[in-house]
Amino acid sequence: MLLLVVWVGSAWCWVCFLPRNGSFAAMVDRGTIAIKWARPPQVLPEKYLGWQFGRNSSLKLRWWVRYQTGTSFGSKTTEVVIPVWTGIALVGFPALLMWLHDRRRAPGLCRKCGYDLRGADHAACPECGSTLV
Ligand SMILES: [Zn+2]
Repeated sequence: MLLLVVWVGSAWCWVCFLPRNGSFAAMVDRGTIAIKWARPPQVLPEKYLGWQFGRNSSLKLRWWVRYQTGTSFGSKTTEVVIPVWTGIALVGFPALLMWLHDRRRAPGLCRKCGYDLRGADHAACPECGSTLV
């Protein structure tokens, strides 16, 4: 649920965090969580450090995982971008399976209406006529 809020919210705003030692940067933007490492740690101007927020000019989301390397401020950088929906899917898929599993009727009950069919051999449910017994 929190991920969903982050995902939708990141379409409008971005959040970025750079620790003082400049070794990495974390950013939530446009439906993704991006982490960037720098080797050696970057010496960045004061204004880039700490938490930063901003607004996006358009509501475009990024959908795919991205991995890229480059150089910036004289450091080698590695950036990994992970779309937030993959996190939602990771949490949501097992939850969906559990939900579907719970919905299934216990054995011996009509799968359509839940009528108790135990103790008799029915070809169809006497209650609702379903043949899915
Ligand atoms: Zn039935």
